[in-house]
Amino acid sequence: MAATLLSPRDPAESTRRAHTWTTQDAARTYGVCDWGRDHFSINEVGHLTVSDARGKVDLKELVDHLKTRGVAPPLLLRFSDLLRARLEGLNDAFASAIRRYRYGAHYQGVYPIKVNQNRAVVAGVVGHGRRCRFGLEVGSKPELLAAMAMLDNAQSLLVCNGYKDAHYVETALLASKLGRRVMVVIEKPSELLLLKQAAEKLNIVPRIGVRMRLSSRGAGRWEKSVGARAKFGLSAPEILLAVERLKGWGMLDSLQLLHFHMGSQITAIGAIEAAMCEGARTYVELVKLGCRALRYFDVGGGLGVDHDGSQTRTDASLDYSVQAYADAVVAGMMAVCDNDGVAHPVLVSESGRALVAHHSVLIVEVVGVSRVADPRDVKAPADDAPDVMHQLWALQNNVTTDNVRARFRHAVDDHQQALSLFNRGELSLAQRGYCERAFWGACRRMLEVTGEMAHVPEELARLEDMLRDTYFCNFSIFQSLPDAWAIGQLFPMLPIHRLQERPDRRGALADITCDSDGKIDAFIGPRKHNSTLPLHHDNGEPYYLAVMLTGAYQEILGDRHNLFGDTHVVHVQFDDEGRYLVGDVFAGDTNTDVLRHVGYLPELLLRRVRTHVEVAVKHGSMTLDESRNLIEHYRQALDAYTYLA
Ligand code: PLP
Repeated sequence: MAATLLSPRDPAESTRRAHTWTTQDAARTYGVCDWGRDHFSINEVGHLTVSDARGKVDLKELVDHLKTRGVAPPLLLRFSDLLRARLEGLNDAFASAIRRYRYGAHYQGVYPIKVNQNRAVVAGVVGHGRRCRFGLEVGSKPELLAAMAMLDNAQSLLVCNGYKDAHYVETALLASKLGRRVMVVIEKPSELLLLKQAAEKLNIVPRIGVRMRLSSRGAGRWEKSVGARAKFGLSAPEILLAVERLKGWGMLDSLQLLHFHMGSQITAIGAIEAAMCEGARTYVELVKLGCRALRYFDVGGGLGVDHDGSQTRTDASLDYSVQAYADAVVAGMMAVCDNDGVAHPVLVSESGRALVAHHSVLIVEVVGVSRVADPRDVKAPADDAPDVMHQLWALQNNVTTDNVRARFRHAVDDHQQALSLFNRGELSLAQRGYCERAFWGACRRMLEVTGEMAHVPEELARLEDMLRDTYFCNFSIFQSLPDAWAIGQLFPMLPIHRLQERPDRRGALADITCDSDGKIDAFIGPRKHNSTLPLHHDNGEPYYLAVMLTGAYQEILGDRHNLFGDTHVVHVQFDDEGRYLVGDVFAGDTNTDVLRHVGYLPELLLRRVRTHVEVAVKHGSMTLDESRNLIEHYRQALDAYTYLA
């Protein structure tokens, strides 16, 4: 990192410095006490920690330890204890609601493996969830093949969603022969006939589910997952037709589950209550129509994660707790069933994000900082310099809260004028360079003055954005945080150390891809839009940032833009004494891995480079020693990590 300290002459900064910074200030600044409440905190030496009931780990210590083992950032840390804690928390919330309301059946969740299909994650859910009959949900043939092998509990459900062909349906039916409770969920009317034919062919009595298309409004980014034009599910007339068909085929007793899914990250509890009412009413009506075997009610996914800790209905948050969610599901179902004297069904949820988001933390290292000019770096121009240089230089002196607005307008005009003069050949490149630095220096001085204003006018509010630092981090957003790029998802981010020290910079983050989209300039924070993150100046030591709540969707949606591959993944667990243990370490992709993926065979690449080398030697542009070095370098590079070393 390139070092530049904030000016000790900065009046706003000296007022702020009057208050001694503590780790509590850091916890508030980065929202750790909000989004991190249950598992993340800052210790007395200013390091970020991860904990659960069994133990606590200091992330800086852990990263330093991993570096000594040759595992350097970017790396993804997976904490299996957090996965267990989240799973138990969800199960306990339903158990508590069922007890309190005296609900007449149990809850058993299924984990939608699309959220993170990694074997270790699925194995973790199956292992930790055995006691509470936690099962799996799949949405495609490969997911089904994985789940068939991983699920080993006869009490758990294997819910098969997604569009199906005959092969998918047959595989699902065969899975039931393994003693698994497989629910084949009909997503569109034509799947019913496929299922009947496969069941006859294999002579297996299926367990059937039906996905209903909700009319109730969703809430949040994915609210269009419901409604008449939703992509999945059967409308009310289609459900009635399906029941008629099943009745006609003598298969009505196979219909055991009713399902809906409202979309991911539901932000408002009101939307869940409304969906429960519509879903429960449909369930009760189906029972009244003679679907006597119906006994599971599957409320899909959607249980949200509070990314910004605000507990509001913004896209990055939600206005309810896990307990409130379980209460809404249990009470909603019970009220409707009791009204019609229908037995309470087993409750199933397909919560994905809420289960796995917390357990992964991405660690990245800052590899450089770019910063616009500081007023102290800009000296007065020579007396005979062009007027525009003097004008821009003068703008940084005597800026006050009264004149700052006018100064800013002049600065913008003079900056524009300097560009026009340069284009007309009336300013040299050096003179233009001076004007740029004087402009930014003046703007920085103006930004300092806005810190003293109770209300910052809109045109000056841009100054913070214009002047922010850029912290370059050794990772790829496209690979590790695809939702930050694709849908503007906010993830909590903060340094994992130096949190006992006041952050004296504000910066946006840029990754190392050659893509201007590879940046993050939206952060959780005190305002509606926060384009910068408080960060520390370079002190000559490595500087690490953590991106939190990355366990859901990011790993599988990530892509190899610029051929940056998977990062290293490290599994961490607590032992019985609460110490952390480094478990499996999965090395990230090498250059060979990613090249193979796009059709290059490393042996052939090496052979071609050898040929080029031989030609170069023959033409005398390379010595034999140089040719050996080049080949050796190339060979080693093929085996190296795709990220900066
Ligand atoms: N179930 C189905 C059918 C889904 O499509 C999804 C994802 O959108 C989920 C469950 C998981 O949702 P979430 O991760 O929001 O809980």
